[in-house]
Amino acid sequence: MDEPPFGFQYCRYCGGKTELVADVSPHLICTSCDKSDYFNSKPCAEALVVRQREVLLVKRTIEPYHGYWDIPGGFLELTEHPKIGAIREVSEEVGIDINIHCLLGVFLDQYDSGEMIYTLTHSYLAEPVGQPRPLSEVDAVGFFSQEVLPDKIAFSHAREVIDMAFKTYDELNRLEDR
Ligand SMILES: [Zn+2]
Repeated sequence: MDEPPFGFQYCRYCGGKTELVADVSPHLICTSCDKSDYFNSKPCAEALVVRQREVLLVKRTIEPYHGYWDIPGGFLELTEHPKIGAIREVSEEVGIDINIHCLLGVFLDQYDSGEMIYTLTHSYLAEPVGQPRPLSEVDAVGFFSQEVLPDKIAFSHAREVIDMAFKTYDELNRLEDR
């Protein structure tokens, strides 16, 4: 048995001390009530909002990645579908509605290197309805072309999904032009 990671030392059922079982599928066992608790990634959603072949990014005012450009999105609420979550996050951060075209993919990422939080993000391609402005947890917004993306972009999966967004945007436009 090993020490549980910080934040996981106590059982969430009874408050007893936990122990870490570090086997193929690491989990906690409570030394009082004997219940097991497994680690999971946290579901998130984000929107790649593209207009005239430029993607909307927002500048973060919170850690992690404070001051980095970011894809608008965030953690899902308990009973929230990722599509609804993506729409809500964009509305909270930049005050606009979006039309979602499709799911680009689902990406596993580490939220903060200092904590054991992993995210599982549903990434949607969308178009904006209205003009975005910085609101919650954001102090700037911008549309960026694929050629002039900012250097500092938050989260490891961001560049991959931004590339996918442009590729899918181009494919959808080709289909429309036929
Ligand atoms: Zn317990």
